[in-house]
Amino acid sequence: MGSGQVTSSEPFDFQGKHVTVAGLGVSGVPAAKALHGLGASVTVVNDGADERARAQAADLEALGMTVRLGDGDTLPEGTELIVTAPGWKPDKPLFAAAEQAGVPVWGDVELAWRLRGPDAADWLAVTGTNGKTTTVQMLASILKAAGLRTAAVGNIGVSLLDAVLGEERYDVLAVELSSYQLHWAPSLRAHSAAVLNLAPDHLDWHGSMEAYAADKGRIYEGNRVACVYNVDATDKPSTEDLVRGADVEEGCRAVGFTLGTPGPSQLGVVEGLLVDRAFVEDRHKNAQELAEVGDVNPPAPHNIANALAAAALARAYGVPARAVRDGLRAFTPDAHRIAHVADVDGVAWVDDSKATNTHAAEASLAAYEPIVWIAGGLAKGATFDELVAKSAKRLRGAVLIGADRALIREALARHAPQVPVVDLDRTDTGAMRAAVQEARRLAQAGDTVLLAPACASMDMFANYNKRGDAFADAVRELGSADG
Ligand code: ADP
Repeated sequence: MGSGQVTSSEPFDFQGKHVTVAGLGVSGVPAAKALHGLGASVTVVNDGADERARAQAADLEALGMTVRLGDGDTLPEGTELIVTAPGWKPDKPLFAAAEQAGVPVWGDVELAWRLRGPDAADWLAVTGTNGKTTTVQMLASILKAAGLRTAAVGNIGVSLLDAVLGEERYDVLAVELSSYQLHWAPSLRAHSAAVLNLAPDHLDWHGSMEAYAADKGRIYEGNRVACVYNVDATDKPSTEDLVRGADVEEGCRAVGFTLGTPGPSQLGVVEGLLVDRAFVEDRHKNAQELAEVGDVNPPAPHNIANALAAAALARAYGVPARAVRDGLRAFTPDAHRIAHVADVDGVAWVDDSKATNTHAAEASLAAYEPIVWIAGGLAKGATFDELVAKSAKRLRGAVLIGADRALIREALARHAPQVPVVDLDRTDTGAMRAAVQEARRLAQAGDTVLLAPACASMDMFANYNKRGDAFADAVRELGSADG
């Protein structure tokens, strides 16, 4: 097998091929098993050698694969193809060695794409800095409402490999893709795709904003029907710039979504209605009503944008307007994404623990006013000046927790000196309860207390779910103490 053969997107025969799987774990183990099942000679390499890795290695070795623990940097002799976990950084020595030896590198998405059968389902693909999971779930709900066999796949629900290789037959898949996955998916060609938004994130992995944007933009490559972009996101590069840079199939259209009045070839909002001016006859004169803003759950601005993007992809696939409305109505968001926990004494308590970066937090802070903001955790190199400056006028107060809270405190001092701040010098597990009690002191009837940490949770909690649960538990205690 020459490298020319494996970089083409033709069906690929794995029988007897020497494939190295880089990384055990959520994508590596199923990939290794699938490749082994297809007759490849599989070697798995992994940096770590902890107990979990040793158990996984024993499992794969028992099936006849070779596993090399503790050295993910050396290219095994005779490797003809690397299938890597998406999180492995492109600057790892393994990839330099692969490049030198002319060995192609695929990620889990590329592998799934190559393993699709002849009548495989189309892919409607979604990426973006924030809102991917929500949008893909909305999209799957809309496709289901149209009577299509579908699933939300990618980082959620069904794994891509299972969707492609499993028994279940699908007409169309709603696929969530991260920038890492797109980086390693050179031959992916979606039916239609959307980039929801673009804000600096994961720059340590990609190396620069340009590289991050370029990887996101790959989702548009080879699209057949529509490249869906965000009209309102004008920071450079914009998602529209990414569409312009893509090499698509003849006839594929650029379709924008906006929270404002849509122009021709756009979906947008008019007088409380979600409206389509792209997939209608004579789009210069006509518009099709799809749903009411109130059909979107929750009807926060950024979530209406997600709904419009999902609707655009569904409409590109030929779904009728009625199914868009029914699918949006049937959709309920996953936990910890702008979840309304309770009302206590006229104050609404909202859990957006999933707002783990400043861009996400900015979106949820834009949805309420006045807000008592609970924030802090691990900043991951972020700065908070822009977020605080944009949100300052909405803030009744702020309660800060977690390891990097000083960064937020300083930004508040610079851009919102009038806002009262409680700096809880705590990272222990009881800190969330204390934060909730402080927030209650600051809040007045009609306010919203919003957990939108703008930070990762791992300094205090196992993950953002646990952080949101701690918040919700503490809020419920408040409610029940009130009797
Ligand atoms: P992802 O899968 O991209 O992480 P999610 O749908 O899980 O996105 O949403 C994560 C968080 O991002 C939400 O809790 C919310 O705070 C924020 N968010 C969701 N949609 C958007 C959007 N369109 N723009 C900005 N922030 C958003």
